[in-house]
Amino acid sequence: MSVNIDQSSDQKEMQNTNQPLTHDDIRRFVPSDNCLDGKTILVTGAGDGIGRVAALTYARYGATVLLLGRTSSKLEYVYDEIESLGGKQPAMLPMNLEGATYAEMQQLEGLIDKEIGKLDGILHNAGLLGQLTPLEMYDVDTFAQVMKVNFTSTFMLTQALLPLLKDADNGSIVFTSSTVGTHPRAFWGAYALSKQAVEGMSDIFTQETQNTTNLRFNCINPGGTRTNMRAHAYPGESPMSLKTPEDIMAGYVCLMSDESIGVRGQVVELQPKD
Ligand code: NDP
Repeated sequence: MSVNIDQSSDQKEMQNTNQPLTHDDIRRFVPSDNCLDGKTILVTGAGDGIGRVAALTYARYGATVLLLGRTSSKLEYVYDEIESLGGKQPAMLPMNLEGATYAEMQQLEGLIDKEIGKLDGILHNAGLLGQLTPLEMYDVDTFAQVMKVNFTSTFMLTQALLPLLKDADNGSIVFTSSTVGTHPRAFWGAYALSKQAVEGMSDIFTQETQNTTNLRFNCINPGGTRTNMRAHAYPGESPMSLKTPEDIMAGYVCLMSDESIGVRGQVVELQPKD
């Protein structure tokens, strides 16, 4: 796997200052080789799309990655990919976020504590598109399913894992939003509403923790990226016109690394329109 992160001398210099990072800095971040060394990072939806590449990239930069997803065979494949790139041994956490209960998430917290002993970050990446249709016609069961996977389970998992995250030196929680989460758009229904809710949750968690903990909560908006979900949403679009998940990894690494300490309550667009 190759991650397209180039390093210019200007960028190296930028990262040696103590100024808070701007969104541009985050997008153009140039990770040092072991910038995630010693960190344990949980990635949801780690079996495919952006989540798979984020998991591989975090491992590439030294993290122990916990792979959470609903399709065990896909997690096994990513597990093997991490081993073959020489990353630290990952862990597989099969979980269908649609049906998962809070008790199961608390058990997961106990398991991570017992088996690994720490958690430094979560990338909440798993997502469902649902229907693209007017709200008037939106199937209510699909609405509940999308809200559960994209929003409610994200809240539940964050809350259940907070005891471990608060024990980390600089815990980082990264939620995944979307352009329609910031600017709701007709026909995007539950998907847009779930992403709006995620942005609100990140803001509230930030306000509630910033004076008492080292935790940071941020949202990332990957922008149009070449994955199955994008192909379903825009069937007429050429995938070759889109960036790949590998192309946008700089921001994902930055928000997990200690270089982004001090970045809180932000919604970072990785592909802003001019
Ligand atoms: P994909 O559909 O390619 O991947 C989604 C991942 O989420 C898959 O690994 C999938 O697992 C997992 N997932 C879905 N439902 C569940 C569930 N019930 N329980 C556990 N895991 C589940 O999507 P992308 O990689 O494109 O999207 C990743 C994130 O980025 C999403 O949150 C999406 O909303 C967001 N995003 C993507 C954009 C894009 O252009 N691609 C643009 C803006 C935002 P499985 O493979 O087993 O089904």
